[in-house]
Amino acid sequence: LSFSSCNFHQKLLQNLEDAGYEMPTPVQMQAIPAALIGQSMLVTAETGSGKTCSFLVPIVSYCVKLNNNSNQQKPQAIVLAPTRELCIQVEEQAKLLGKGLPFKTALVVGGDAMAGQLYRIQQGVSLIVATPGRLIDLLIKHDIELDSISTLVIDEVDCMVQRGFLDQVMQIFRALSQPQVLMYSATISREVERVAGSMVKDLTIILV
Ligand code: AMP
Repeated sequence: LSFSSCNFHQKLLQNLEDAGYEMPTPVQMQAIPAALIGQSMLVTAETGSGKTCSFLVPIVSYCVKLNNNSNQQKPQAIVLAPTRELCIQVEEQAKLLGKGLPFKTALVVGGDAMAGQLYRIQQGVSLIVATPGRLIDLLIKHDIELDSISTLVIDEVDCMVQRGFLDQVMQIFRALSQPQVLMYSATISREVERVAGSMVKDLTIILV
C-alpha cells in the first residue's frame, strides 16, 4: 500500500507529502484500507506508530468526498480521547491533513468556554475531537445533531478504562446510530475486549 494508490483527493496526497509522510507506517498499512471500506476495528498500536493518521486519513478522505458537493458540513466523525492534550494533538493532525480541503474540525475539551465550542459546531464542521466528559456536558445542555455521525473513534481505550470514562464513552456511543467504531489501545485487556464486543458484532482486530 502507498498513499498514492489509495483513491485520495489530490490535495490530501499533497498534504501527506508536505508533512513528510512518504510511506504509510505498519499500522496505517493495515488500518487505512479496513477503515475505508467501513470496517469496525480494535487496533493495538502505541503512540509513535502513526496511529493518529491511521484513523484521520480515512476520515478526511470520506468527509471531503461528501463535502465536495456542498458547503454545509455536518459532523461525520467523532474522535474521543482521554485527555485535553491528546485531543489538541489529534485536532492539529486533522487540520494538517485537511488543509485547503472542505474539512473543518471542532475541539470539545474542558478548560475552554463551551459557548465557543458550540458556536464552532453550529457553523458546520466535519469532525469533532472531544474528551468524553465535556462532550456529554455539551450534549446535555445543547441540542447537537448527531444523526450524521458515521464514524466514532475511541483513542487509548485502555486509558479510558483506567480513568473510569467507560460509562461516558458508552453513553456517547448509544447516542449515535450504529456508527463504524475504530478503537485504539496500547494493550488489549479482558475489559477492553468486553467493551469492544459490546459495541460491535463484526470486529476486525488488528495487531501491530
Ligand atoms: P502517533 O502514533 O499518531 O502519535 O504518530 C507519531 C508521529 O508519526 C507523529 O508525529 C506523526 O506526525 C508521524 N507520522 C504519522 N504518519 C507518518 C508517516 N506515514 N510517515 C512518517 N511519519 C508519520
